[in-house]
Amino acid sequence: MTEPRVAFAPSLPRSATGPLRVWVDQDLCTGDGLCVQYAPEVFEFDVDGLAYVKDGGGELLVAAGARAAVPDHLRLDVLDSAKECPGECIHVEGADGTAVAGPSHR
Ligand code: SF4
Repeated sequence: MTEPRVAFAPSLPRSATGPLRVWVDQDLCTGDGLCVQYAPEVFEFDVDGLAYVKDGGGELLVAAGARAAVPDHLRLDVLDSAKECPGECIHVEGADGTAVAGPSHR
């Protein structure tokens, strides 16, 4: 049984109200799996034990810095993943590239 978690109520910049994209810096990923637990439709482990993002068809995007669109119904899960990621390596950005959550936003 998983622990209930409290969703953050982030104060988001204007760019966060539109479409969001997310990417993972695998150089910093600890492989703990928090993101995969929070948003398995967006994050998945590859055989190297590191987390990667997936496109809308579920295809793992393994190129460095590859961005995936964040489905509307998973915005909060992805934002929470970025905020709680122990590796500080999940980057969420608006359509204009502005950092919305993650290490570039802190
Ligand atoms: S939460 Fe961060 S450190 Fe943990 S597996 Fe996901 S990307 Fe890697």
